[in-house]
Amino acid sequence: MHAESLREAVARLEGWPAEGVVLAPGSNFLVLALGLMARQVLDTAPSFAWYEGSARVSGVPYRAVPLGAGFDLPLPALLEAMGDPPGVLFLANPHAPTGRLFEEEAVRRLAGRAAERGWLLVVDEAYQAFAGSDHRALARGSPAVALLRTFSKAWRLGGVRAGCLLAAPEVAARVQAVLPPFCIPLSTQAVLEAALAAPEEARRNADRLAAERERVFRGLSRHPAWRPHPSRTNFLLVHTPDAEAAFQGLLSRGVLVRRQDHLPGCQGCFRVSVGTPEENDAFLRAAFELPER
Ligand SMILES: *Cc1c(COP(=O)(O)O)cnc(C)c1O
Repeated sequence: MHAESLREAVARLEGWPAEGVVLAPGSNFLVLALGLMARQVLDTAPSFAWYEGSARVSGVPYRAVPLGAGFDLPLPALLEAMGDPPGVLFLANPHAPTGRLFEEEAVRRLAGRAAERGWLLVVDEAYQAFAGSDHRALARGSPAVALLRTFSKAWRLGGVRAGCLLAAPEVAARVQAVLPPFCIPLSTQAVLEAALAAPEEARRNADRLAAERERVFRGLSRHPAWRPHPSRTNFLLVHTPDAEAAFQGLLSRGVLVRRQDHLPGCQGCFRVSVGTPEENDAFLRAAFELPER
């Protein structure tokens, strides 16, 4: 009913008790399940849009606290906002769309407040493999902290649709209850069981992408008008004088990036995914053909 043998395999991979693992067809479904369970949702701004989406479709109150200068975590404001009724705080760490990895101590403070106030801190670790970060020690044994992980990024299985929640068994049971039975297709189970037999593949993919990310960052740092934000993910947020001009200029050279200039604190920004070395070279070449934009 809940892909039990796959769940056991994921539990072994993550070093987590199987009763605390919930599988879903993408971690986005787990975000939705958490929204449906929540009495309110707290977020940062800018953020991963589906956190707000899940709150909206669930009909629960939603608030977002703006990140500080340099995309710093607004710790005092977040602690302050964790009041009544107890809710769910979504925190992608590394963070999307900024690429920022927040300090462990700050996340620990949020976890402490969540425990005091009956909140659930959900640390979305979609990008952890590119940062070498790991919040399992913080979540282990705590009903106030849950982690989201996905097969969509370092594992390169985005089209397979699979993600998991790592939580305390009582939290996992509540999330599982929101998901319909039989929601992991056998085909997904077969693909993942094959992938899980070679976890070093995901490690190598992540290391290769992280090294390319640093190379693209160094290359772009010499650009006369654009400024990449430091990133611990598989993408870079790039500040330009004019996001529309940058987007169109890159597009006309065959490079598709994602505009982010509609987001709070992201004026002039676009986001570029780190690709193969050849794709990254094509991006850098195009970028330097657009020196003033
Ligand atoms: C890509 C991403 C995910 C992954 O979602 P799936 O549904 O597992 O593909 C989750 N959270 C964030 C912040 C992401 O960027």
